[in-house]
Amino acid sequence: MNWDIRLDKLNEECGVFGIFDNDGLDVAKLTYYGLYALQHRGQESAGIAVNNDGNIDYHKDMGLVPDIFSENVLNGLKGQIAIGHVRYSTTGASHRENAQPMVIKYKNGKMALAHNGNLVNAAEIRENLEESGTIFQSTIDSEVIANLISRYRVTNNNIEEAIEKMMGDIRGSYALVILTPRKLIGIRDPLGIRPLCIGRIDDSYVIASETCALDAVGARFIRDVLPGEMVIISEGGLTSIQTKVPDTTKLCIFEHVYFARPDSIIDGASVHSARKEAGKRLAIEHPVEADLVIGVPDSGLTAAIGYSEQSGIPYEQGLIKNRYVGRTFIQPDQQQRETGVKIKLNAIKSAVEGKRIVMIDDSIVRGTTTKRIVQMLKDAGAKEVHMRVSSSPIKHSCYFGIDTPSRKQLVAASHSVEEIRNIIGADSLGYLSMEGLLETPVGSKCSFCSACFDGCYPMEVPKEGNKFSCESNKQ
Ligand code: AMP
Repeated sequence: MNWDIRLDKLNEECGVFGIFDNDGLDVAKLTYYGLYALQHRGQESAGIAVNNDGNIDYHKDMGLVPDIFSENVLNGLKGQIAIGHVRYSTTGASHRENAQPMVIKYKNGKMALAHNGNLVNAAEIRENLEESGTIFQSTIDSEVIANLISRYRVTNNNIEEAIEKMMGDIRGSYALVILTPRKLIGIRDPLGIRPLCIGRIDDSYVIASETCALDAVGARFIRDVLPGEMVIISEGGLTSIQTKVPDTTKLCIFEHVYFARPDSIIDGASVHSARKEAGKRLAIEHPVEADLVIGVPDSGLTAAIGYSEQSGIPYEQGLIKNRYVGRTFIQPDQQQRETGVKIKLNAIKSAVEGKRIVMIDDSIVRGTTTKRIVQMLKDAGAKEVHMRVSSSPIKHSCYFGIDTPSRKQLVAASHSVEEIRNIIGADSLGYLSMEGLLETPVGSKCSFCSACFDGCYPMEVPKEGNKFSCESNKQ
């Protein structure tokens, strides 16, 4: 199989949203607010598709949600059902035609589809479909999914049956929302790798990647979509089909570490509490004598508060983030990334000068940003900088929807903790243990995929060090 195609488009970080209205709500506007709340899951493109009496109208473009949708555009999107999508992908796949939702017409009707996750066998399915004459217009997995549903729909009675067949073919992570002329359908992969939850506004239903999007539209949380579950919302209300699932679940632990918003609750565990717990455990595992605890905004802040509470070392704001700049990681090349950091973050000299600092961040990926921040603190007069990371060393690429670079670029894949300390220029460095990390999402109903840390992929993945045989993954 040609894994180069696969690797080129490896990892789309995305957020999905869907709404079925029974109360006369403005579905496009609510989807807009929902996507706004999910913007952290993808800043490259966004789109909304609305079912207008059997026709599917849509608008999608490159850019941030508020830049893409004007009041005028939203007013033109009227209907009873809507789905939306925000997306960020690696540069190779950064094209307008890859923006979602994907809207298609097929023999049995019309459908729009939005996907968060990454299929590990999409290239193989695509090749097979192309062999039989199928034309593809994008490089996204959603088009592969849409094609499979369309094919199975020809020989099956309803779309649910076609979707179940499609689910039997695809492997990987997926949280999907599908809009048909009469239904809103939400689907979560059999291992529950990516999150998906259900909410309600009066008699209307909402499906979203994270509960923070339910809050944004005033929806009451009902429950998470279960791993392998398909929920179907129609005039008659909500029904569900539970497909066959393995006896384990594998929610992505990186949702708790970095990706999700702290005000979200995933499978019963609060992201905020998980990050705070990680900080507390980090203080126990890696204590240090210091004057101040600071966090790297934004994803390191909650863990820093936990570290401070546990250690008794005062918490202080030592770094300020320019809130009008997007994630530096999103910049396409290294040089831009390095310049971006200077724009994004600055040290507060009066807070750190002459102090021994414990600096907390959620993760070190390449080490580039961390090195610059340590230097920034030293330039501002910090006496010592002790780096503490509220997750474990990232040694393996993700194939399931988090934008981690190839192993070559992961600093922990080829360096010891002491070598990394030296590279980033910190006075000491401590990472949270794997055991500690996996216990941080207190109350979680799911167990976790932690492959980026331990290489234990929950299914066969391309190339790099596939340790599918890890004990915890035997199904
Ligand atoms: P670096 O020192 O260059 O490895 O950057 C570390 C920073 O990257 C940390 O502040 C993390 O919060 C952040 N980070 C980790 N994973 C991602 C991701 N997938 N997208 C954007 N930023 C990330």
